[in-house]
Amino acid sequence: MTETGYEHAVEIAPRVWWVGHYLPDDVFQCHVYLIENGDQSVLIDPGSALTFAHTLQKIESVIPFADIRYFICHHQDPDITGALDLIDRMISRDDAVLVTHWRAAALLKHYNLQRLSFWNIEEHDWRLQLGDRTLHFRLTPYMHFPGAYVSFDDATGVLFSSDIFGGFTEQWRLYAEDEQYFESVRAFHEHYMPSREIVQHGLSSLESWPIRMIAPQHGSIIRENLVHFMFRKLKALDCGLYLMAKSDTSIHRLMAINHMLRESLKVFVLYRDFRDIVHHLLPALAKSLPVESIEFYVAEKDRSVLYLAPSNRYRGTEIEAPSFLAEAFAAAEQSHPLKHCSLADHVVYLPLGAGSSQWRALAVLKLADDAQVTPDVDEALGQISGPLMVAIEREVIYRNIERERDELYLRSIRDPLTGLYTRYYMHDAVERMLDSHDRGVIAGVTLVMMDVDHFKQINDTYGHATGDMVLEALGRSLLAACRKVDVPVRIGGEEFAAFIISRTQRDGMQFAERLRRHFEQQHFDCDGHRFKVTLSAGVAEHQKNEGLQDLIRRADAALYAAKESGRNKVVCYDPNMSQEAGR
Ligand code: GH3
Ligand code: MG
Ligand code: MG
Repeated sequence: MTETGYEHAVEIAPRVWWVGHYLPDDVFQCHVYLIENGDQSVLIDPGSALTFAHTLQKIESVIPFADIRYFICHHQDPDITGALDLIDRMISRDDAVLVTHWRAAALLKHYNLQRLSFWNIEEHDWRLQLGDRTLHFRLTPYMHFPGAYVSFDDATGVLFSSDIFGGFTEQWRLYAEDEQYFESVRAFHEHYMPSREIVQHGLSSLESWPIRMIAPQHGSIIRENLVHFMFRKLKALDCGLYLMAKSDTSIHRLMAINHMLRESLKVFVLYRDFRDIVHHLLPALAKSLPVESIEFYVAEKDRSVLYLAPSNRYRGTEIEAPSFLAEAFAAAEQSHPLKHCSLADHVVYLPLGAGSSQWRALAVLKLADDAQVTPDVDEALGQISGPLMVAIEREVIYRNIERERDELYLRSIRDPLTGLYTRYYMHDAVERMLDSHDRGVIAGVTLVMMDVDHFKQINDTYGHATGDMVLEALGRSLLAACRKVDVPVRIGGEEFAAFIISRTQRDGMQFAERLRRHFEQQHFDCDGHRFKVTLSAGVAEHQKNEGLQDLIRRADAALYAAKESGRNKVVCYDPNMSQEAGR
């Protein structure tokens, strides 16, 4: 197209006209577009005092100027709004409006326009209905101006993109000819657009429209065959901050670190389970730190070290404290506030927990061989350590609660079936009893060990529930026979024990004999069948300074002898008995 070709309005799409003005020495050609729509016509980015007279001529060649009701200003630069004062003085109709966004309106009111009133897009559901077509507006903030927006005409698929896709051209053409046109767009955007992230975000939001043509305010109009290509190229363009980063700032690296921090902190917000946290944290850290693996050591007071690592899928195992741990803690503690340290190449030790008296932890990050911990990364690690510490503390607390629950269960005092003390409780209570005897506080302790005779047969004949009933009855008898100071225990199954405070061995024998007889005299019923049950007992008197296990072994030997000699008997321990018979 020759220069003269631009002296007329050009219909770029049905009833959409280019009405800009070509300035021969202007690399920055400014375009004005007209949407012909009867007396509801629209003028887009009217231009400046420099070009408006020519634009007016072109408009009038298509429609009377008075048909224009809507004057769209995509932003408030002078090359768009410089003619507003002229326009305001020209219009005669009362309903003419300046279509803009409140942020631009806040500035444009300083033109002190008299006739044109503001028609803000956000107050009109971001659209303008024009008979059979609708103009859709979308804000593109910060891409080139805080309140900048673009318009899309759904009847023709034309995107009036304002500065986006604009270009600088030495030899201007109304239409972009080929992919080469991107080079003129490149320079314009590298310097106009603040950052790749913002441009990408803005472009992605525009792509939802079925765009068939891009009509920018500068440069050339992009036809359908190049639309997709231009979007793709522009999204990948380094611009704004990135250009600065290439020269004298570290913006690139800082952004990467910022991204890493944001992603990492998100992990702590999203996940509660420690395993989930570590699983998602690693890829987040890897955004600016080449971390190959991460593992944790938690040293709790009076405990072995808890080791959480990929090898145990971060479920944790108890290990002996590795030798480097104390060294790493010591090195870390020398600096205040706590900082990471590195004892070996490409391994970072990050202390978690301020060496508190209860526990302290260390994260060990293995880095790639060529990794460097720059001061920025250092700073980021420091920021991660806070939330990581909370996560590991939570893990330690959960584990301790679980452990205490287990121990509590094991240490439960009463056997639920018989109401007798449990074997776990026995250890504590009887140790105290034996200790009192050792110190001469009490006269003596006798252990009576009992076992139901042929109990298996009862189960087999009358069923397990009846067996339970027998055990309950024996429990009741035993409880009744014991005094408060004695300790009756269900050792397990159908084996019982009673530690009784006694003066002589005879006391124990009498106790056992009474119980045996009492039990023998009881009747049990099951489905109309009556049966009796007997028990055998072994008795041993505690020797001073004898341990609990030895005492049990001797009573067991006596019980074994009672069984061997025909059951339903009480036998007292005799040193000639083999203790091997016991457990
Ligand atoms: P012995 O006279 O030699 O002691 O023979 P026994 O059958 O009494 O001894 P054995 O050790 O062979 O069998 C004990 C049985 O007690 C086996 C086990 O199933 C049963 N048993 C263990 N605990 C319970 C329980 O809580 N309830 C019931 N009903 N049976 C139990
Ligand atoms: Mg038995
Ligand atoms: Mg048994």
